[in-house]
Amino acid sequence: MDAQIQAQEEKPHAVCIPFPAQGHIAPMFHLAKLIHSHGFHITFVNTEYNHNRLLSSQGPAALLAADDFNFATIPDGLPPSAELNATQDIASLCASTSTTCLSPLLHLIHKLNQNKPTVSCIVSSCIMTFSVDAAKELGIPVLVLWTPSACGLMCYLQFQQLLQDGLIPLKNEGNLSDGYLDTPVSSVPAIKDVCLRDFPTFIRTTNPDDILLKFTITEVQRATQASAIIINSFEELESPVLNALRSMLTIPIYTVGPLFLLSKHNVPSDAPVSSLSLNLWKEDTTCLGWLDKKDKASVLYVNFGSIAVLSKDQLVEFAWGLANSKCDFLWVLRSDLVKEKNYSGDDMEEFLEETRERGLVVSWCPQEVVLEHAAVGGFLTHSGWNSTLESLSGGVPMISWPFFAEQPTNCRFACREWGVGMEIGSGVERGEVEKVVREMMDGEKGSEMRKKAMDWKECALNACQIDGQSLVNLERVLKEVMLPHN
Ligand code: UDP
Repeated sequence: MDAQIQAQEEKPHAVCIPFPAQGHIAPMFHLAKLIHSHGFHITFVNTEYNHNRLLSSQGPAALLAADDFNFATIPDGLPPSAELNATQDIASLCASTSTTCLSPLLHLIHKLNQNKPTVSCIVSSCIMTFSVDAAKELGIPVLVLWTPSACGLMCYLQFQQLLQDGLIPLKNEGNLSDGYLDTPVSSVPAIKDVCLRDFPTFIRTTNPDDILLKFTITEVQRATQASAIIINSFEELESPVLNALRSMLTIPIYTVGPLFLLSKHNVPSDAPVSSLSLNLWKEDTTCLGWLDKKDKASVLYVNFGSIAVLSKDQLVEFAWGLANSKCDFLWVLRSDLVKEKNYSGDDMEEFLEETRERGLVVSWCPQEVVLEHAAVGGFLTHSGWNSTLESLSGGVPMISWPFFAEQPTNCRFACREWGVGMEIGSGVERGEVEKVVREMMDGEKGSEMRKKAMDWKECALNACQIDGQSLVNLERVLKEVMLPHN
């Protein structure tokens, strides 16, 4: 018993703090499981809002982990909301977390330090960098988890220069549609032939004080003051950009992705937390049985992630494009996907009737598993970074409809560098949807892209095996940064 307590006291203790959105919580949770399996005590910090939401979607067992893997909460700083099942407004969340969360985090850590083991390091989402200030105040190392792509990071790092060069903010709203976004941007290290349209969407503003524009500039700048940055990507996928980042920035940069795959292959299956996943929506797994009955690479999987919203017109255009393509599809229609409040769904009834034999619509699915299913042959996606990594890791090419943040950058790389993407215009028109879907599922181009995607699948898997670069990097960062005195 004494020996156990002794061992417990000696454990390093990491506080992991994701930004309160699905695309940050999931990779941070995979990382936390990996760090835990390397002998760390973990405190995983959700916002109070998401904690309650997870309890409601997953049940209380989801957040009862183990003696040395605990959950804690801090407030997100937003006014209380009666609605528990909706994506919170991201701009408001960014504004509130960055201005209100430092003090609750410090308070939490002081409280944790009344017991053993003492908090010895922080692992922070790249847009929760008040944690960098917290770590400085406490004199402990802080690791920033860059959840988007390395190419996204490179583009965010150019924002100051774009402002100085007068390319942003936009002169007027008309610039969104008059071809201005096609303005080339020269001298972005390691990215050739790039234009404003390929940059994260936060530049698409006429307001120099736009919340998200200012927020991303500040967060990226503060992220570079952490002890190290770890990126949820793998070397082979983004090596020119990674090399350029390493020569531009003095901070150590390690790739540790795809984190979901790294955790799948390296967290022991009998670890107390191995089977837990933090989903803000309740998963519907019936689609897996439906996929089992389908032919190899015959199903188009459609999902726009956790934040993107569609107008009802866009929804209907996607629907009829899919119906007219005659291909089999699995479509995840999140309960809050349609922008218009109180949308009844009446105008989807004819589409659902027409596609009953070949389509399945669910509200949230186990995406990592779906994309590994042999029946899935293409992914119509908003090009969120987790979705992109999961698609590449499943060997599935993408039809990209970028919506927000650095998704246009991911789309550009998928289509022009990695050979696994076709883009759909932002306007969404059923004829174009039908044509691109047919090309992806039945055309020669689609079949070439499936082959290329299988090559990326192998690279991703190699990075996550014993001696793979992402595992080696994770172990190095734990030793060199998180345990500085060992
Ligand atoms: N996801 C899921 N089931 C769904 C929809 C999404 O598990 O039905 C997960 C998906 O696997 C990914 C995350 O939600 O890990 C979405 O992250 P991404 O970066 O792709 O997009 P975001 O939601 O941040 O826009």
